[in-house]
Amino acid sequence: MERNHCHYHPVQPATWCCPSCPRQLGDCCVPLNADASEQAPRCPLCQNPLTYLGAANTAQPFWERIPKFFLYALQTGPLAFAALLALATAFMPGSLLVWIVLLSVATKYLYSVITANAEMLDRAPSLQSAFVGDGFDLFFKQLAIFILAGVALGMSAGLGSEAFTVAVSLTLMLLMPASIIRLALDREFTSALNPMLVGRVIKAMGWRYLILWVFLFIIWQSIDYVIYMLAHGLSLGLLMPVASAVLAYFSVVMCAMMGYVVFQYQGALGYVIADDSQLKFYPEQEYGRRKALADAEVRLKEGQPEQALEAIAATLERAPNDLKLNERFHQLLFALNNRDRCLRHLAHYLPLVALANPALAVNALLNARQLQGDYLPGDALVCEQVAEALLARHKVREGLSLLRNLHQRFPAYAHIPRAYLLAARGFAEGLGQLEPARQLLGFIRSRYPDSALLGEVASLEAVIGQLATAQSV
Ligand SMILES: [Zn+2]
Ligand SMILES: [Zn+2]
Repeated sequence: MERNHCHYHPVQPATWCCPSCPRQLGDCCVPLNADASEQAPRCPLCQNPLTYLGAANTAQPFWERIPKFFLYALQTGPLAFAALLALATAFMPGSLLVWIVLLSVATKYLYSVITANAEMLDRAPSLQSAFVGDGFDLFFKQLAIFILAGVALGMSAGLGSEAFTVAVSLTLMLLMPASIIRLALDREFTSALNPMLVGRVIKAMGWRYLILWVFLFIIWQSIDYVIYMLAHGLSLGLLMPVASAVLAYFSVVMCAMMGYVVFQYQGALGYVIADDSQLKFYPEQEYGRRKALADAEVRLKEGQPEQALEAIAATLERAPNDLKLNERFHQLLFALNNRDRCLRHLAHYLPLVALANPALAVNALLNARQLQGDYLPGDALVCEQVAEALLARHKVREGLSLLRNLHQRFPAYAHIPRAYLLAARGFAEGLGQLEPARQLLGFIRSRYPDSALLGEVASLEAVIGQLATAQSV
């Protein structure tokens, strides 16, 4: 199965699906509301509930996790399992019935390892868990499958063609992991033999099934190799129990790998394993913001700019002072050349952004000037704040234009001296025009003789005096 990605963000894995649109979406486009975590999120286009794809597209590929499977089998549960098999080999009587009981427990334990890994549980099942509950029949089902495979192999050998026998034996070996996974998933003997259902496991994984098979084959072979190595150093009495333990350990590794494969390919296998730890929920306000921004982006990419605007406008009604939403709304209105609405929104947006983010305020004002050449904010403080930000960014003429005749436009404004001192600096230092700077400083002296800023006025006058001397030289 190929990994699917968000319809609107080609590098983000798909985690949700809208069956009616149909679209696959990533977490990028589907923010989750912490206050309504039990409700399925809705499609940004058709508002139908979305289907969760599980970790099918976000899971790490199993071949990148090989060391983890070996570590997994070193937990208390698997080690106790290996110890049990070793002790049984050393001390258990040769009674068939006792051995059948033991093998039932062992098979049940290994299948519980597959299930635990399919659910992405980090902790391996305890050995005790293999002695209780149901699933003791798995051994007989598995045994019957092995016997049937053996019969098929025997019959093909009976036909006399060696090539045919090799082909049958290879096919059986190839199908075995898929059949084991099927049995783990459905617990039905017939499912594990059903070519359609076994084939579906292989189809879900595609050619990656071969990677799994190769890894399992290598591990299976290495059991023989490890036992062969041990055979040189151990007496026969010790070798058999140790060999059992080695077999148990590697079996757990293989089952952990097969289980994880179910987790990784859950979507294609038709299972969704709820792994809530992967989901990220946002508190109400943050959720509202993210949802509006994501919906707007989706609408825009669908070529529906009006709906994009409405997605944000609707949320702005509830959170009128949200800076991010206002910023996006402004950008959208400007990009869509929605002149009147953009200018109207600026009356609200500019005071907000002038306080919070001067750099954005500069952009907003320059945008406004493109829509209306003589645009002026309707508030004296905003004029002053944005002018300061413009001057700091060397947009001197635009900055000065906001301060022109400020005392006439806003006679009641308490900070005219401060604003004009700023303007004087702009003229003198930004434009090198000393005369208008002098006039502004003179205006402050004559109109506001008690201003606390007269000290700064005097020092700027001194600087202007020096600049004038330098210019005349
Ligand atoms: Zn997306
Ligand atoms: Zn939809």
